Amino acid sequence: MRARAEILHLDLDSFFAAVEQRDKPSLRGKPVVVGGVGGRGVVATASYEARVFGVRSAMSIAEARRRCPNAAYLSPRFAAYREASRVVMSALHEVSAIVQQVSIDEAYADLAAADTPPTDIAKALRRKVTQATGGLTASVGLAPSKSVAKLASEAAKPDGLMVVEPDDVRAFLDPLPVTAIGGVGPATAARLASHGIRTVAELAAMDDDDAVRLLGSAHGHGLLALARGDDDRPVEPFREAKSVSAEETFDVDLRDPARMAAEVDLLAAKVAGRLRKEGLAGRTVTLKVRFADFTGRTRSYTHPQAVDGTAAITRAARRLLSEIDTLTWSTAGGIRLLGVGVSGLADWFQPDLITADEEVAADVPEPAQAPTPELEPRPTWRPGADVRHAEYGAGWVWGSGRGRVTVRFEGPGTPPGPVRTFADDDPDLSTADPPDLPGR
Ligand SMILES: [Mg+2]
Repeated sequence: MRARAEILHLDLDSFFAAVEQRDKPSLRGKPVVVGGVGGRGVVATASYEARVFGVRSAMSIAEARRRCPNAAYLSPRFAAYREASRVVMSALHEVSAIVQQVSIDEAYADLAAADTPPTDIAKALRRKVTQATGGLTASVGLAPSKSVAKLASEAAKPDGLMVVEPDDVRAFLDPLPVTAIGGVGPATAARLASHGIRTVAELAAMDDDDAVRLLGSAHGHGLLALARGDDDRPVEPFREAKSVSAEETFDVDLRDPARMAAEVDLLAAKVAGRLRKEGLAGRTVTLKVRFADFTGRTRSYTHPQAVDGTAAITRAARRLLSEIDTLTWSTAGGIRLLGVGVSGLADWFQPDLITADEEVAADVPEPAQAPTPELEPRPTWRPGADVRHAEYGAGWVWGSGRGRVTVRFEGPGTPPGPVRTFADDDPDLSTADPPDLPGR
């Protein structure tokens, strides 16, 4: 733990919903739910106005609709979220060279090297984020360790700053429920509760041996350390949030390119299966090769979007394999180990969400003359999607069905706009990129 509160954790407030309210003036101050809007979809983010009705992330959309029938239910617009995220992360990079992004809307920064007091930096950063994103808000925690900084930003929500100085760490942690500690899921919490341990103070006071007996060695020691505020983990700028990989060491060194490709295919399929099982997708595919002489190569390819499919991962891994030329592996005596990994994972990229969106898309009737899907995807008119009408300009899909699509014509720099309905194959209506912010 550091001697002062110089680790910063930033987390954007109800990020997806906030971007929607920014770009759709008629939804400001109203309940908004972003998620898979089909029958089996889940909530990705709810605005604070929707949370009042008990709508929470990861809840089924069906349950959310029961609790808050009047909310606007929107499909995610990842392009707009990625752009807002990029702006926020570059603001963070201006305050520190050591930034670790952990998800699309969350990052740590180490302020140890800064001349300005960390609290002043945090205040200026929050103002900068709001100004640069056109109105989004970030909550920030400042603390002597990563785990406490993260809990502090959570406690500061929404739109707040909380500073936990080293002397205040115990008083801050003690009353929190054990579930506040990263790594305490429902099963661990239930096990702890059966031994009368419900708060962080009670966990911190536990005998080490008892904790290890109850939770296992690695988990027990780790959780006790976090509960005691004992966290030295550095902010790691180059560390990916998570990765999923598989590797294989061969009894006999591989010298046959066809066999190498087949092994890469098997590893790619294994990784894809694990990703889907855990509801993850990632952008970067990495191929690791160890040669018989114990030298090695690691190469990676980053997709523009997160992938979890066997085909996309296999294609990337094969391409990376083909970049290692025959001379290299033959001089090194063949290949003794192959590994395929996917990193840059996004756990907000929920498979339920995607399935649900596909269901929505499937409801839209085929146009009379079906275009080649690869070349020209037909508009799917997902609720919330950006569109443009030749006569009325930019807007977003308010709703669709029964051969009609209703559009609200407004954008981030306009007052709440009018609603108009069109035939869903109206040639004047097309899908569009996210709107530019006013003043850019
Ligand atoms: Mg957030």
